[in-house]
Amino acid sequence: MIVMKFGGTSVEDAKSMRTVIEIVRKEKAQTPIVVLSAISGATNTLLKSAKTAQEGKLEEAILLLNGLFDRHVTVMENLIDNRQTVQQLIASFKQRFEELRNLCRGIAILGELTNRSLDAIASVGELLSSQILAEAIRSQGLSAQWVDARTFMKTDSQFASAVPQFELIDCKAKEILSPLIAAGTVIVTQGFIGSNDKGTTTTLGRGGSDYSASIIGAALDADEIQIWTDVDGVLTADPRIAPGAQKLRMISFREAAELAYFGAKVLHPSTIFPAVKKDIPVVVLNSKRPENSGTRIVSHPPKTNIPVKSIACKRGITVVNVQSLRMLMAYGFLESIFSVFNKYQTPVDLVSTSEVAVSLTIDTTVTLDKIIAELSEFAEVSILEHQGIICVVGDQMRSTAGVADQIFNALKEVNLVMITQGASEINMSLVIDETQVDEAVRRLHKQFFESIPDTDLFEPVGGK
Ligand code: ASP
Ligand code: MG
Repeated sequence: MIVMKFGGTSVEDAKSMRTVIEIVRKEKAQTPIVVLSAISGATNTLLKSAKTAQEGKLEEAILLLNGLFDRHVTVMENLIDNRQTVQQLIASFKQRFEELRNLCRGIAILGELTNRSLDAIASVGELLSSQILAEAIRSQGLSAQWVDARTFMKTDSQFASAVPQFELIDCKAKEILSPLIAAGTVIVTQGFIGSNDKGTTTTLGRGGSDYSASIIGAALDADEIQIWTDVDGVLTADPRIAPGAQKLRMISFREAAELAYFGAKVLHPSTIFPAVKKDIPVVVLNSKRPENSGTRIVSHPPKTNIPVKSIACKRGITVVNVQSLRMLMAYGFLESIFSVFNKYQTPVDLVSTSEVAVSLTIDTTVTLDKIIAELSEFAEVSILEHQGIICVVGDQMRSTAGVADQIFNALKEVNLVMITQGASEINMSLVIDETQVDEAVRRLHKQFFESIPDTDLFEPVGGK
């Protein structure tokens, strides 16, 4: 059994959905579980309608919803020939949109928008796309069953970023999905959405469909988790910055985790973890070019002597410098610093320390003022805004001499604000001014990938 997750651009219109059906049909023998995102832009529109309602602009909110309804009707009409099926879908969608309008009315009256309401609204995108696809697959003569993910994707009640309850999901997924798989039915379900112990709708956070796919794959011991998106796979760098970027045929889970975290937008950062636990390969594939072999992410790719595999970057970073002479020879100082970030639930990405100073990077600044105020009670604090992180990743970096030298050499004209090498030594991260990020990525890419040394590992973008 395999899990096949399709992102928003893979289901954005009838033509794309037709391609998805063809891709699924080819894997029929593997009894795929199809996990879908909302059609591209739908989640944004749904969230926008909720916010517009909260601002008291109910009519505008309803217009947004009507537009979205029409878009779905266009997709199904261009995709499904059977008139009766289309009519039934339209009737069911009318009901869902009536519920959405009612939610928006409530929000507009109260002028209040909770994460719980946001989840109720955002979840509809995935419900709609998956209903259309399930019917379309069926109308092409394949046996398919639509399953509401909220019946098995059990989470806690942290709306908008709910935490999956893995044991419960394992149980429910086996109970609900396994009989369908055994019967050879193609299951079509939703990514991103789940429900808490009371059955109230939750979501796993933006981009969470990848995570759903890997949770389902792990729960059912899938042979493979396929993430179908609109890029060829994991690349050596963002091709918009470094036009010579190459695709990686295979990378390790550890490399993928570093890259997902540091801005390579291909995978949701949490995707890897459930797959790693069960050692299930995750394959990133392009639904716009299904013949392309994509990138396989596995626990132990064949050894190579290539130290650097990819260069990721992230912008909009803030560096917080904390300095105090009291830190000299003292203990507990780091704890007091981190407890402030902890209190304001602000994740810290990179840390580097000297005897009397600590520099940290954060990428959300919502509570920065409060953090600065509290840190200032026991230390001197300075802030550097508009910074970027460059992250150089590769499993073999730790066993290859001279990589740091090559990195610094490529960046000798760039002012490095912070340098950190993770304890795992499979990445080196550098903080530089945001405006220099593109140039730095280009220089590093030139340094490490000017001539592609190993065609078993790398492949031109767009190649087979
Ligand atoms: N539709 C959701 C979003 O746009 C989840 C996903 O596509 O992964 O965030
Ligand atoms: Mg996505």
